[in-house]
Amino acid sequence: MPCLDSLARPISYLRISVTDRCNLRCIYCMPAEGIPHKFSHEEILRYEEIARVVEAAAGLGINKIRLTGGEPLVRLGIAELVRMIASIPGIDDISMTTNGILLSRHAQELKDAGLHRVNVSLDTLQPARFRQVTRLGELEDVLAGIEAAEQAGLHPIKINNVVMRGINDDEIADFARLTLTRLWHIRFIEVMPVGETADLAKVGFVPVAEIRARVEAEFGPLEPSDGAGRGAGPARYYRLPNALGTIGFISAVSEHFCFHCNRLRLTADGKLRSCLLSDREIDIRAALRRGAGLEELQAILRQAVEQKPAGHHLAEDITATGRLMSQIGG
Ligand code: SAM
Ligand code: SF4
Repeated sequence: MPCLDSLARPISYLRISVTDRCNLRCIYCMPAEGIPHKFSHEEILRYEEIARVVEAAAGLGINKIRLTGGEPLVRLGIAELVRMIASIPGIDDISMTTNGILLSRHAQELKDAGLHRVNVSLDTLQPARFRQVTRLGELEDVLAGIEAAEQAGLHPIKINNVVMRGINDDEIADFARLTLTRLWHIRFIEVMPVGETADLAKVGFVPVAEIRARVEAEFGPLEPSDGAGRGAGPARYYRLPNALGTIGFISAVSEHFCFHCNRLRLTADGKLRSCLLSDREIDIRAALRRGAGLEELQAILRQAVEQKPAGHHLAEDITATGRLMSQIGG
């Protein structure tokens, strides 16, 4: 029976940021020079500590885990963490959000360790633009990563596409078209004004209603779909007639989905956040490091769940947060 928050929302999903480091510098997520204050080795939770939090969370009814970052694949030995989490009773869905740059090297190893599926972030299909948006990356590496994930059976493959006006919004139809021939679930995401990149997000903001209208102007009406099955989360899914894949819309800003939010977040430095966009955090690292038992850890998790806010205020032009997106995990 999942743990309920003060609004009776069942909390079943824990997103874990395993590192604040990243091999890219996406313009909507990080400053060009990278994050200002990287966590030190000691500040970051060790894999055993993360697994202990998952064990405690599983005892409270959390059954879905997502590994994110920063870039989760830059943390050494990440497959080992997947293996540890996969062995915890009660956890039946383990996924990862990745930029895909290192995925071709790790996909099979991750699958073998117990990872079920991946979300790969991909904002453009144009190599030069990819370098501009990520400041450091090569598109071909991500495409190879997605292919390797498909071959390894990390299904369903979801693609996160952050739409920004004047930057990549002219590719909305190109991404939608991919679903005709590939079993990819393309999720168009409204850019959120978070941390130091808030100004860019405001200038580039495209509401999902407009993204959807632009897809329909090109391809005709979308058909509702139950989506990618596993882990539909905050996206609303549709399908082009006869398409293999689906099209999802994630509207954190214009039509927020807080009412259905089922998630809790653990930052790389061991803070629990009950909302992506609220800076209220509870430290669990100190308890872990003084050897707290499962019950004490569960009391801390419950406290985080209880303080989950009813919703956020981005639509009223209030920006979050004290942390960058890469430090929270998206
Ligand atoms: N590095 C991994 C990646 O890029 O997939 C995982 C971490 S990243 C912070 C998680 C997700 O957050 C990505 O899909 C990214 O596109 C999204 N994201 C980052 N900043 C965002 C913003 N300002 N608005 C909307 N989505 C954002
Ligand atoms: Fe790195 Fe992901 Fe942020 Fe891009 S979105 S800078 S890949 S953490």
